[in-house]
Amino acid sequence: MQTIAMVSSPYKQKFAIPRQPGLVKHAYGVIEMLPEFSHPDFLRGLDAFSHVWIQFVFHETADKGWSPLVRPPRLGGNQRKGVFATRSTFRPNPMGLSVVEVVRIEQQEGKSRIHVRGLDLLDGTPVLDIKPYLPYADAHPGALGGFADERPDTGLGIAFSDAAEAFMQQQSEYPQLREFITEVLAQDPRPAYQKDAHMDKDYGMHLYHFNIKWRVHNEKNYVFSIE
Ligand code: SAH
Repeated sequence: MQTIAMVSSPYKQKFAIPRQPGLVKHAYGVIEMLPEFSHPDFLRGLDAFSHVWIQFVFHETADKGWSPLVRPPRLGGNQRKGVFATRSTFRPNPMGLSVVEVVRIEQQEGKSRIHVRGLDLLDGTPVLDIKPYLPYADAHPGALGGFADERPDTGLGIAFSDAAEAFMQQQSEYPQLREFITEVLAQDPRPAYQKDAHMDKDYGMHLYHFNIKWRVHNEKNYVFSIE
């Protein structure tokens, strides 16, 4: 198989990426077709679909191996399920699958790009295939979701320090930075085993070129600095 496109994403490291697409609506990214696949013909008709399936390589962890049983973070990291009963990144073939919303398709100066939102992919992820999402065949409203039956809800609120507020206001490149940070932190990216034990520990994450620091205090994510 060959890479057909590359992902540009605000997520520059694995930490804090949501576990599935669509959870963080303000995660905007771009799928850029490689030169060999950048002729407009390859995407003709795709603009009539609101969502696409992306098949990609878990390139960052592909050489880390896999095992038949995994501990889904969703279960607190202490119950095991079969690798094929999970969406774990550590699999015999390190391939991922995500549905994302198409914002617009841009074709100019020999470049071909699909702008998407709701991404759960790392910056630089190689894409193997793109297919339109077909609601009549792909959507199953009555389906059972096993151990991940519901959209995760951490119930954590958000608060920003004055310095963080000021920083967000003085930058104009990302008008929806506040919403983006809020949605990412609402997923509670902290490792499962630290959620109770280290309530006041400080964490840092990279979104775009920003370094964002926060801690959990009184059931709220408190963002104290953005650099
Ligand atoms: N929706 C996909 C991904 C689920 S796992 C699927 O079901 O196949 C989601 C996790 O994949 C994210 O939390 C992120 O940490 C990880 N991830 C995203 N892109 C990756 C990449 N290129 N290499 C390794 N891990 C990646």
